[in-house]
Amino acid sequence: MSAEVGRVFDIQKFSLHDGPGIRSVVFLKGCPMTCAWCSNPGSQKLRVLQVRDPLHPGVRVPDSRDWTVEEVVETCLQDRPFYQESGGGVTLSGGEALVQHRFARTLLHALRQEGVHTALETTGYAAPAVFQRVLAEVDLLLIDVKHHDPELHRRWTGVGNDLPLANLAAALAAGTPLLVRIPVIPGANDSLADAAAFCRLLKPLGVTELQLLPFHQFGERKYELLDRGYAMAGVPALHAEDLDDYRRAFADGGIHAFC
Ligand code: SF4
Repeated sequence: MSAEVGRVFDIQKFSLHDGPGIRSVVFLKGCPMTCAWCSNPGSQKLRVLQVRDPLHPGVRVPDSRDWTVEEVVETCLQDRPFYQESGGGVTLSGGEALVQHRFARTLLHALRQEGVHTALETTGYAAPAVFQRVLAEVDLLLIDVKHHDPELHRRWTGVGNDLPLANLAAALAAGTPLLVRIPVIPGANDSLADAAAFCRLLKPLGVTELQLLPFHQFGERKYELLDRGYAMAGVPALHAEDLDDYRRAFADGGIHAFC
């Protein structure tokens, strides 16, 4: 992959959940994590995978292709009137978009040149110099914190939480517009003690508000199409109303948590 060509597995239009307004979300392949609950398991690999076609499971099709910056920008600009009308824009997601950081930076820069608002959904798992370079082209950072405990973070995601937390702290210290998001996962980080521990970790960094992302099962079928086992198979989804006590525990810890 290069600064001009990136591997993209989806471009979703008319998203309302990935930053302000109506947005196009560009999903880049590759991720350093292997979260047990991942709803895009194919995105973890940078290489193109052959997956079963959902409509014809006996047929295999590539899960992604390489796009130039110009192609992605052109596709996104088709919806410019909607961005302007709604205060929206384009969000880069993944996988982890920072795996293809050269492409991500060029793409974000090109979108900004066109006057498009840019957001980055990230785990924050990247070398600080890389993180800072990409951040310079981002209007809004949406950054996940997956676990408060370093060892449990490693157990559930495959990597430690040192880099994400260092990058989050730097972004907060620099005054970057950002939203912290916590995927709330049954059995992993959903106890009231977990909520209190998240507060002890995040409040001193200056976090006063964050978004909770209740566990869902939208990715279950994707494991079948990849012929992969799924660690969270059959685990019931969570809903906003399941998290009332959890949100209260955040409030007790000095952080406003919303779904
Ligand atoms: S960070 Fe996101 S894309 Fe990567 S493994 Fe975790 S859930 Fe999947």
